[in-house]
Amino acid sequence: MPQEARSSTPSTQWSTYKLDTPVQFVKGVGPRLSTIFAKHNIKTVKDLLTFFPRTYEDRSEFVKIAQLRVGQKATLRLKILYTKKIPIRSRPKPLFEAICSDGYQTISLKFFNPYHGIETQFTKNREITVSGVAKINYSHFDHFDHFEMLHPEIIWDQATNINVGRIIPIYIEIENLSNRLLRKILWEAIQKFSSAFTEDLPIEILKKHSLPQLSQAIQMIHFPPQGASIKALSEFKTSAQERIIYEEFFKFEYLVLKQRLNIKKEKAISFCHANGIQTLNAFTNLLPFTLTREQKTAINEIIFDMAKPIPMNRLIQGDVGSGKTVVAFLTASIVLAEGGQVALMAPTEILAEQHFLNAQKLFNGKLNTAFLSGKTPLSERKTLQRRLLSGESMLLIGTHALIQEQIVFKNLNYALIDEQHRFGVEQRRILRNKGIQPGEQSIHPHILILTATPIPRTLALTAYGDLAVTTIKELPPGRSPVITQVIQEKYKNPAYHKIYSELKKGRQVYFIFPLIQESDAEGFTHLKAATTAAETLQKQVFPEFKVGLLHGQLKADEKAIIMEKFKKNEIQVLVSTTVIEVGIDVPNATVMAIEHSERFGLSQLHQLRGRVGRGEYQSYCFLFTLLSTNKNAVDSTISLKRLKVLENNNDGFKIAEEDLEIRGPGEFLGTRQSGALPFRMANLVRDTSILFRSRDDVIDILKKDPELNQLEHLALKKFFTREGNDQFEWLKTS
Ligand code: ADP
Ligand code: MG
Repeated sequence: MPQEARSSTPSTQWSTYKLDTPVQFVKGVGPRLSTIFAKHNIKTVKDLLTFFPRTYEDRSEFVKIAQLRVGQKATLRLKILYTKKIPIRSRPKPLFEAICSDGYQTISLKFFNPYHGIETQFTKNREITVSGVAKINYSHFDHFDHFEMLHPEIIWDQATNINVGRIIPIYIEIENLSNRLLRKILWEAIQKFSSAFTEDLPIEILKKHSLPQLSQAIQMIHFPPQGASIKALSEFKTSAQERIIYEEFFKFEYLVLKQRLNIKKEKAISFCHANGIQTLNAFTNLLPFTLTREQKTAINEIIFDMAKPIPMNRLIQGDVGSGKTVVAFLTASIVLAEGGQVALMAPTEILAEQHFLNAQKLFNGKLNTAFLSGKTPLSERKTLQRRLLSGESMLLIGTHALIQEQIVFKNLNYALIDEQHRFGVEQRRILRNKGIQPGEQSIHPHILILTATPIPRTLALTAYGDLAVTTIKELPPGRSPVITQVIQEKYKNPAYHKIYSELKKGRQVYFIFPLIQESDAEGFTHLKAATTAAETLQKQVFPEFKVGLLHGQLKADEKAIIMEKFKKNEIQVLVSTTVIEVGIDVPNATVMAIEHSERFGLSQLHQLRGRVGRGEYQSYCFLFTLLSTNKNAVDSTISLKRLKVLENNNDGFKIAEEDLEIRGPGEFLGTRQSGALPFRMANLVRDTSILFRSRDDVIDILKKDPELNQLEHLALKKFFTREGNDQFEWLKTS
């Protein structure tokens, strides 16, 4: 180990040890609070100090009662004049009222349900600081209206200045812990431990962006210095906050981009020789349509990648109906023609089957195709396993049955994953691992991931940063945009008439509901259940048409039967939960009616909408909602205004950006990690400029010193050795 590294070792270890101190040992915490903290993943002092304020409140100035405004929060210095307990009918405890003065006027402080012994604290002439929302109300003392504060925060001790006379931090509520208590605990922790934070970032970088040292930043974030700007703090624009955000992005980007470099060192079989390209061209000519320009570009990019002896790792994103499948099949034909094995994994049985039928149609016996799902009989599976082991070149299409242990490929050279956001990272990794052939230098498969959920640019650079991205924006010709309308409950009738007239014309309709059972665990008891709705629609609304019901609790073959009937137009109205979201292709369906659309993500709605408008007929999407313009109707996750984004927008990318802002990144990452990216402060929507800045810096460092061996990068290297890649591991896409 170089000299310099050794000399910095002791202090790092010492401070790591200190920051690893259990929170219990922070003054004021103790066993009870530490159990509560632990439940919220705050276990060590470091966790505590990186539990950052959600926002701030400006208490740097005291106001006089005369300056109070009704409904506004204010902090006052007062002297207690008198107190009184007033019995209240229908309440077990009296009301406690204290009249206080600021030297000019009086204000009343009121406490319902006062704690025991309150009157011994509110002693006459005691000076206190009070923070609360002012209103005007009746006083029991003189029976006139006065300024009052209900349950204000009282600061008894005038000596400490954690809670007043400054901008104070506001934390997310943890169970019943008051913000005052949290502030006190954090204050203690800061005094004792904040200097233990050591610097991982290279000093030049801090200088370059004028960012403060970490320990200083931590202090400034919890207890902003005098003169700090409340506006900058609330917008996360102070240099202390930017420093934390920068570091989070920086470390993340390093891992992501490093992973990409590592992939480039792996080996893969090079394809796309004369034979494969001839086959590709032959099948392209057999298609009943010509490829769009962007489909051709996508194919060319894939050819370019797969011709190299290093594994391709590519994502194709394109709106529903943009024709990704044909790109997948055509590129698969190259590998098949050159003797490789190819696997295509789809998230549902229905979708996998649809792909299989399409592949059979296209390849028409000239290339081997096979199907595998949980339903495949054992004998058939055994035969298939034997063929795969023998190295027979084939395209195997299936559900996650493909990643069962028993399925072993001899040479899986090309692995495709459709609608990737439906899979967890782990499932993708297993499929990929099935294609790794050990040897002196192991051979890796080429990977192609297909998604109809467009990924906002910032996410593409973070969560998917190790993938190359192809985007298909244009739709095949002849599609007219779906007419979309957000419809409030009371305006439902005209939409139902429209649906009826479409049915009369011979078209078919989807009705989507967010939940199956009336009283779901989440407690949306007033939501209509798909099952009862199906009955109502059948009996009362569309009695002359056939209504079918599809939901997640049906067995796979039951679902398949219903889907088949819908495809054959034996069912005209398909009531469904979101299981139909992916891949279904019924060109005769022209209406997508979505109940409680406010319960869905915008991207999800956009995908559902993509199920119609696939044929020659004008199609409609009705987004029914309980939301109304007077806001209080429903406690909503998505506002009417945002829902309306869909009305005049067909661009999946714009919708995705909007979604990222509303719902965070969980929507775009696999189902398994529906949480968020591992950032404590950084925000992909708010902090994009910092993201790009940190990314540029990482690219620089990776050029100069990818393994972080230079002196100025040693602290960073130690960080990664110490913390491992654990927190980022789950984000890797391959
Ligand atoms: P997605 O991108 O949603 O997976 P698909 O691959 O399922 O889209 O394609 C949707 C439909 O469009 C399919 O019926 C497919 O045959 C058809 N299609 C694909 N490419 C073209 C094209 N270039 N011109 C016309 N139709 C096309
Ligand atoms: Mg598809």
